[in-house]
Amino acid sequence: MIGLITGTSKNSDFPAAKIKAAYKLIDQTPVLDDKLMQLYQWAAAYYQFPIGQVLQTSLPVQIRKGNAAEEKQSHYWQLTGAGASFETSSLKNAPRQLELLELICRREKMTSADLKKSVGKEVSSILRTLVEKGLIEEVRHQRVTETHNKNLYGEDEPLQLNPEQQIALTAIRQNNDQFNVHLLEGVTGSGKTEIYLQAIADVLALGKQVLVLVPEISLTPQTLRRFERRFNRDIAVFHSGLTDNQRLSAWLRALNGRADIIIGTRSAIFTPLANPGLIIIDEEHDASYKQQDGFRYSGRDLAIYRARQLNIPVVLGTATPSLESLNNALAGRYHYLRLTHRAGEANHPEYRLLDIKGQELSEGFSAALIDIIRSHLERKNQVLIFINRRGFAPLLLCRECGWIATCPRCDSSYTLHRHPPRLSCHHCEAQKPVPASCQECGGTDLAAMGLGTQKTEQTVKDLFPEIPVHRIDKDSTRNRDALHNIIEKVDSGKPCILVGTQMLSKGHHFPNVTLVAVLDADGGLFSADFRGQEQMGQLLTQVSGRAGRGETSGEVVIQTYNSTHPTLQSLVGEGYVPFARKLLEERKLGNLPPFSYMALIRAEASNQNLPIKFLSEIVDDIQSAFTNVVVIGPMPSPMEKRASMFRMQMIVEADKRSWVQLFLNALITKMEEHPDNRKVRWSVDVDPIDFT
Ligand code: ADP
Ligand code: ZN
Ligand code: ZN
Repeated sequence: MIGLITGTSKNSDFPAAKIKAAYKLIDQTPVLDDKLMQLYQWAAAYYQFPIGQVLQTSLPVQIRKGNAAEEKQSHYWQLTGAGASFETSSLKNAPRQLELLELICRREKMTSADLKKSVGKEVSSILRTLVEKGLIEEVRHQRVTETHNKNLYGEDEPLQLNPEQQIALTAIRQNNDQFNVHLLEGVTGSGKTEIYLQAIADVLALGKQVLVLVPEISLTPQTLRRFERRFNRDIAVFHSGLTDNQRLSAWLRALNGRADIIIGTRSAIFTPLANPGLIIIDEEHDASYKQQDGFRYSGRDLAIYRARQLNIPVVLGTATPSLESLNNALAGRYHYLRLTHRAGEANHPEYRLLDIKGQELSEGFSAALIDIIRSHLERKNQVLIFINRRGFAPLLLCRECGWIATCPRCDSSYTLHRHPPRLSCHHCEAQKPVPASCQECGGTDLAAMGLGTQKTEQTVKDLFPEIPVHRIDKDSTRNRDALHNIIEKVDSGKPCILVGTQMLSKGHHFPNVTLVAVLDADGGLFSADFRGQEQMGQLLTQVSGRAGRGETSGEVVIQTYNSTHPTLQSLVGEGYVPFARKLLEERKLGNLPPFSYMALIRAEASNQNLPIKFLSEIVDDIQSAFTNVVVIGPMPSPMEKRASMFRMQMIVEADKRSWVQLFLNALITKMEEHPDNRKVRWSVDVDPIDFT
């Protein structure tokens, strides 16, 4: 077993006979410094997850397997004294030996592998001959990168900032040697990344490291190349495609200070940093910063904790601030920096609500929308159609008896897919062939109801047969190249139609898209989840931000049955921030986050009665001791049955974080002691964002 020593003690509550000796110490110095250990401990306590598992899930696999936290040493070849003064003409009958000798002389730190690349397979026998002649020797070094001698900048130089950018950068520069939180709000294309890069340059010039967190999907080769082109510095990148060795190497480079810039998704917040100077969180509102299973932490919130702990600044960038961050900025706890213009030539898109009440739709498209799409295509522009549901159609319905194909394991209908044909449950991943007839009445008049990306793709292909149509969703982009190929085609600038899900709202910019069409905005308006409207506003704004980044400005058309809905009106008429401020007022009235603090407790079991009994008994036991905490539930989860498990949930709410924490501590102790503890799968989600 590999263990981690987090402290030592002379005494123990454990029976002495049960304590085993550690028989080997893998690392001679602590791998995690005090501050990082303290971050882990705080996170484990706050998110109510065992510290051992927290460490397990966030240390590199190689470390967990018991490898020492050291980089693999490489062997290099160098000339001996005799080799350096050797008269090379005497080797003219041995051209391969001469070639190797010259390579070793000309270039530093040649490994056998490097030499093999130039000389070929027989390299080891030639090397042996040269060693026998006393001309070369093998040495061991740590591999050292020498980037620090080079210029800071690579092939891209910093841009001349516009006045708004300049104000923002100046604010970040001031007091950049201490803890500060900046909320940098700016639409897509307003030049936030340019500000990050210039703020990073300041910190690198001081010899310090920068940690950059990005959402899962936006860690694209394009993003990375922008950093690489700007800086002649070691960049350690953490993404899901790394091998265990690459991950360890990036982690060690950050740990020992050789990596200057560390870029990664959520979990990179736990990267050890030798010399931290700045943390940047791009798209701070993005839901992927919150882990949704196991150790349910928020990478963004931990970043702010870590910045305070390290006494360094943190920059949160986004076009659509989360209500939490906006509230902090409005209250003056964060510096609020705003970019209101686009950096290049392009203008803001124009919004238009298209009322579809009483109108006939053909597969989700009103006649007016089809005309608008046609006019953009006629002007040789590109069009983006947003629909937030993948697959062909969300329902397969028998027109004779009303039977709907539902997943037997979940409270959910199957989604019909056409490419390839199958029924698929988006909640448990179950798949089955498409039935030819109704399972209730045997009728064969089965209809695909509702809209999915595949159906919409088919519809626009029929409407505009001469225009290429590209679909972007989880199914069409399962391999990395697929997305890349689509983007290349779109980048060529020729007229085309993009149909996609929220994947379209992130990362990629489509400069020649002049129309964004949203087929249905109404789902978000009436969501049961108190964050539904916030998420809708962020999504629509982000999708719209993809349009018109080139010379031509864009247009955003939103189909809705609720064109007079005040929230939608505010979003479209005034923009995201005034809209978000209205939502904040509503949250305040309802005493909802960020004006109160929440935790969600889930319990599930294959036996339907067990979770409710379990949660009720525990709450009844402790509730009276916590008068400052409101407990809502236990009640069935919105999706009561998922993957054959029956699910109950309970929300805990209080005006102070510490009150929630005290309640959870008591609750978890009770749950662990409960006789059904092992029969019920329970979890605790602090500051939840997903209530399904
Ligand atoms: P964001 O991160 O807010 O989406 P970017 O920093 O990516 O914005 O900037 C959008 C585009 O505008 C990029 O092509 C960038 O090179 C360009 N840009 C940014 N700042 C400036 C500037 N001050 N002058 C000219 N072009 C700029
Ligand atoms: Zn039927
Ligand atoms: Zn299912």
